[in-house]
Amino acid sequence: MYLILLGPPGTGKGTQAKLIAERLGLLHIATGDLFREAVQQGSELGARVKAYMDRGELVPDELTIATLMERLLQPDAQAGVVFDGYPRTLQQARALDDALVSAGRVADAALHITAPDDEIVQRLSGRWLCPNCGQIYHEVHRPPKEDRRCDDCGGELAQRDDDKADVVRARLERQRPPEELLEHYRAQGRLVDIDGSQEVGAVTRDLLAAIEQMRSESAPKRA
Ligand code: AMP
Repeated sequence: MYLILLGPPGTGKGTQAKLIAERLGLLHIATGDLFREAVQQGSELGARVKAYMDRGELVPDELTIATLMERLLQPDAQAGVVFDGYPRTLQQARALDDALVSAGRVADAALHITAPDDEIVQRLSGRWLCPNCGQIYHEVHRPPKEDRRCDDCGGELAQRDDDKADVVRARLERQRPPEELLEHYRAQGRLVDIDGSQEVGAVTRDLLAAIEQMRSESAPKRA
């Protein structure tokens, strides 16, 4: 089974991708993780992608597609994959389609996790860190007992620059899946919208139900 998770940042897409992969015994491939590992290892790929990542820009398609394809050909990817953070462009989607088709396979579903912008901004911008001990808080989901003070060490909490609301809005605009990408999967009848504003367990439940539904719909066509 090959599943694609789409959605803006702040919808819990990464968390859900891991949960779904574990549940269904699939490999979780996140291109962001592949690139971060390459940077950490100081490889040639890492050197080529670092500047794009630092600027929050997309890595060029050619390099991204080559990286994804190399990972997709490994033996542990043959039983199925959950793609997380890939594809981000129409060209990347087409390259994945071609690779799957030439292996006699198909992407079973493109699951689009959505949430209202205001909620995403609130989620992403509500994060506060303790610079002393590294503890993470959230204004809504995990507030400290005392305003802006760390429960563990009493340190004064701080907000990262890129977690501030206007920066988060700009990031959201840049990282939203482009309409032509959604349209690509919609035209194939594989796009399913999932309400990402629910709690984690409910989102997982809806994802699993949508996957099951897609599989049962496509089963007769394959027989
Ligand atoms: P992520 O962890 O998915 O937010 O990815 C971190 C960074 O890696 C992104 O900001 C991009 O610079 C790069 N990246 C990850 N996946 C892709 C992709 N499919 N296409 C282009 N760039 C990507």
